[in-house]
Amino acid sequence: MKICRFNEGRLGIVEGDTVRDVTDILDILPTARYPLPVFDPMIARLADICAEAERRGGGATHALADVTLLSPVANPGKLVAAPVNYQAHLDEAIADEATFSRAHVRKIQETGLFLKATSSMIGVGSPIQLAHPDRRTDHEIELAVVIGRDCYRASAADALSYVAGYTIGLDITIRGPEERSLRKSLDTYSVLGPWLVTADEIGDPSGRELLLTVDGEVRQRANTRDLIMDVPALIAFASSYYTLRPGDVIFTGTPEGVGPILPGQRMDVSIDGIGAFSIDVGQK
Ligand code: MN
Repeated sequence: MKICRFNEGRLGIVEGDTVRDVTDILDILPTARYPLPVFDPMIARLADICAEAERRGGGATHALADVTLLSPVANPGKLVAAPVNYQAHLDEAIADEATFSRAHVRKIQETGLFLKATSSMIGVGSPIQLAHPDRRTDHEIELAVVIGRDCYRASAADALSYVAGYTIGLDITIRGPEERSLRKSLDTYSVLGPWLVTADEIGDPSGRELLLTVDGEVRQRANTRDLIMDVPALIAFASSYYTLRPGDVIFTGTPEGVGPILPGQRMDVSIDGIGAFSIDVGQK
């Protein structure tokens, strides 16, 4: 099932090129009162949400082209991200000392993971707003994993059972010497979408082709089979340090071909089995 959020916080099921509005199902979620939960309550109940969507049917339908897509996860507690996690991207970073600060060009096993601010997250219906267009700012297409239930010290063998679904992530990045958490956490620099594909539809997330073009020029074309630390390994690694909660997102790292984006450009992005979207680059 493909779950989306759209317009003013509506919940939808994507069917072909239409969206069926199932916002009423959100009434099965507890009414939030302060203090708010530090996980995503909708993702925590995703199986029930999907079952209700099938049971109730109906609902107004809209053409996908007529709605504004929001991030499929509204309230992730954390955006976990893998640094250099494809060998060919590591090689291109090693080769370009002017762009890739030496302090950041190391293997993922040495660097570990980093966090992006949740406030940097947008859906694909809004433009990326470059806040420092004078600095080189790059696109990074990544398979993004959404965690479905509490996960601490998972084994790689069990790891995929904690996944609610998959979406496409853009980890927009200012190049330079500062901490990743600063350079990658600007408003709009974490794009998620176009929707969440439930884990049962994906099965094994390896072997998925990723494609990103800028104004029609192919920049990144790669395959998730070439991840250095694959999805089960990332979940096992991350959960050996902190508990992953429902709605937490893991950006799995970008392949080779990263490059600069400029205000006025448009990106077309897709991952096999998940979906495709276009997004504009603007200026803040
Ligand atoms: Mn990245």
